[in-house]
Amino acid sequence: MARIVITSGPTRQYLDPVRYLTNGSSGRMGVALAQAALDLGHSITVVSGPVAVSYPSAASVIEVTTTQEMLEATRIAFHSADGLIGAAAPCDYMPRHIEKHKLSKTGDGLHLSLIETPDIVATIGLLKLASQWVVGFALETEDMRFRAIVKMSRKSCDMMVSNSAEAMNADNNSVEVILRDGTILGSLTGHKSEVARGILSHIQQQLIDRPI
Ligand code: C5P
Repeated sequence: MARIVITSGPTRQYLDPVRYLTNGSSGRMGVALAQAALDLGHSITVVSGPVAVSYPSAASVIEVTTTQEMLEATRIAFHSADGLIGAAAPCDYMPRHIEKHKLSKTGDGLHLSLIETPDIVATIGLLKLASQWVVGFALETEDMRFRAIVKMSRKSCDMMVSNSAEAMNADNNSVEVILRDGTILGSLTGHKSEVARGILSHIQQQLIDRPI
């Protein structure tokens, strides 16, 4: 039995008390991964941004809103975990300043000054011990395999799941699973629940059952 943390869903970065930036993500891949991992007997903590989907009741769920909150909750959960699956779509940018009061329209448009939020997978990738593992997701619209491999190295991941933008808010997904050394473990296509089972089977063989 492995203790696995799964990040899932989008995060929000508020401009003012009512408006926010976010990323497209339904959390459905997170639900499917949590179920597939539970079916293999693993213990699951999901750190999720705001979603409409429900996670399996056997998973422990930590609800967060911002990328910084997701990072903090993931860091704490990962401390006592064996691995992380980063399936969330954290919002990559946040406003340099958050307005305390709702911005009023002036008829003149609005210029936003944005800064990057911390990268959760990359931060955990740097913190992980030799016995721990990190799996990232890469969503690209071109040069998918190449970009996924570059991202895997930049974020210190042990495995990368490369998928295309069609996966967003859809029931189906089509992915390629790539190992740290560039080995393509295979392609998986179908309903997100089937794809999640395939991903978990690669994680089981390559990362959980591996000799340390
Ligand atoms: O760089 P990009 O956002 O495309 O990378 C995707 C991978 O990185 C996914 O695993 C996603 O969950 C993770 N990520 C993250 N924190 C961010 C941005 C992305 O963990 N701020």
